[in-house]
Amino acid sequence: MTEVNKILTKENFSNEDLEFLLGLQGSEKTLLFEHSAKIKEKYVGNRVYFRGLIEFSNICSKNCLYCGIRHDNQFVNRYRLTDAEVLSAARFADENNYGSLVLQSGELETGSFIKRVEKLLLEIHKITGNRLRITLSCGEQEKDTYRRWFDSGAHRYLLRIEASDQELYEKLHPYDGRHMFQRRRNCLNTLQEIGYQVGTGVMIGLPFQTLKNMANDLMFLKEFEIDMVGMGPYLVHKNTPMFALRDKLLPLEDRLQLSFKMIAILRILMKDVNIAATTALQAIDQLGREKAIKIGANVIMPNITPGKYRDDYLLYQNKPCTDENADDCKTCLEVRVALTDNEIAYGEWGDSEHFRSRIKSATDSRVK
Ligand code: SF4
Repeated sequence: MTEVNKILTKENFSNEDLEFLLGLQGSEKTLLFEHSAKIKEKYVGNRVYFRGLIEFSNICSKNCLYCGIRHDNQFVNRYRLTDAEVLSAARFADENNYGSLVLQSGELETGSFIKRVEKLLLEIHKITGNRLRITLSCGEQEKDTYRRWFDSGAHRYLLRIEASDQELYEKLHPYDGRHMFQRRRNCLNTLQEIGYQVGTGVMIGLPFQTLKNMANDLMFLKEFEIDMVGMGPYLVHKNTPMFALRDKLLPLEDRLQLSFKMIAILRILMKDVNIAATTALQAIDQLGREKAIKIGANVIMPNITPGKYRDDYLLYQNKPCTDENADDCKTCLEVRVALTDNEIAYGEWGDSEHFRSRIKSATDSRVK
């Protein structure tokens, strides 16, 4: 039996095993992808869940060194969707049977922002008859805020750790007391304690990042018992401090292939989690998201933000589909998913199976 086959048949993986798998090339890499595709089919089926994405504001108080909408980027047209625009996008998701939506924004901790999100959650549930699952992606917040939003009907929360290694994390963020690794980790714990389905993810192919870091990222996701994962290649934005490091990056194709390997290995490690096929994959390869679905991803996020704002939510450059409207995006994704021999699970919430079993085992152990 070859080394790859030996590792793939193991029950548990060591960090060294993961690092070995991340280094696979050629026919051995194909073996990995075939194996992860089978695991996907067996545990989550060949179904893809839609999450209608509403990027409701690009105003952010933070300054992550890689991000195109960081506070200090003076070249961004700042916007905030009106309540009517958010509600109309939510209605579109409901009428088109998406089952779920994601409200995403830059990070603000002001009282008015917190209240607005709360109000939007309540309004969306009201106008859609509670038919949608709502995910929030609004950054680090106090426990009380997370609790208020949960009580107003947010069921899931996405907060990307971006790099699970503290040293690497600190290279990606300013050292100003407002971008603390420990706070990010604490927020993830708090979200779990409150009862959210929790999602996180990392960037792949960062400067200074090693295969060992990526293997540790995968182990972090597993040990943290994460329910949902969104990860993709790191892509530069010219108006960010990290643009200066662009010569230190791996070629785009290598970052893409590493991203596919991360997705495939994660599917093998965490068989029942939800994994997103992120838009960043498509920024490198026209068929990037389809390829990710084939080897392990089972979630896709059609953008339903009104088209006129999309050019202003550029976390990285060459973001695809910014010139489309919600209808175009739906049609395009239907074709793309059909190409993968998967079907879109219209009208379903698509909760993470991992979340269900995590909650069940926590309840069982309390009863014992
Ligand atoms: S990554 Fe998020 S928190 Fe950081 S600057 Fe960008 S939008 Fe703000």
